[in-house]
Amino acid sequence: MIISAIGEVPDVSFLEGKVELAAGKTVKVNPASQATNVAGVFAGGDAVTGPATVIEAIAAGRKAAAAIDRFLKGRRSRKSR
Ligand SMILES: Cc1cc2nc3c(=O)[nH]c(=O)nc-3n(C[C@H](O)[C@H](O)[C@H](O)COP(=O)(O)OP(=O)(O)OC[C@H]3O[C@@H](n4cnc5c(N)ncnc54)[C@H](O)[C@@H]3O)c2cc1C
Repeated sequence: MIISAIGEVPDVSFLEGKVELAAGKTVKVNPASQATNVAGVFAGGDAVTGPATVIEAIAAGRKAAAAIDRFLKGRRSRKSR
């Protein structure tokens, strides 16, 4: 018998009215850059996807790091807007 223990959900209620949310449950981002609707604010991991896997959270972090680097250098790619 396999009992799935994955099912926790992120509490993003503190972001309501500050950052755009998807159905009030996760942080909405541009999937190409992990950028939220607020300039300079990026998100990734379960807070964006809902319950997922470590590797997906790490991949989102990598993508966000590259986008943050571009943002800080003032180089916004067409995809990250
Ligand atoms: C029981 C269980 C088993 C799992 N097993 C696996 C597995 O075998 N393999 C796998 O790949 N994935 C597994 N997962 C999924 C994996 O743990 C997550 O996908 C991954 O941890 C997501 O990483 P994250 O950085 O997005 O979020 P998290 O690892 O949850 O990190 C979020 C961090 O933010 C902190 N935080 C939250 N709110 C605030 C706040 N308001 N202010 C400051 N800090 C805050 C939290 O304390 C936490 O440290 C499992 C999940 C669960 C629940």
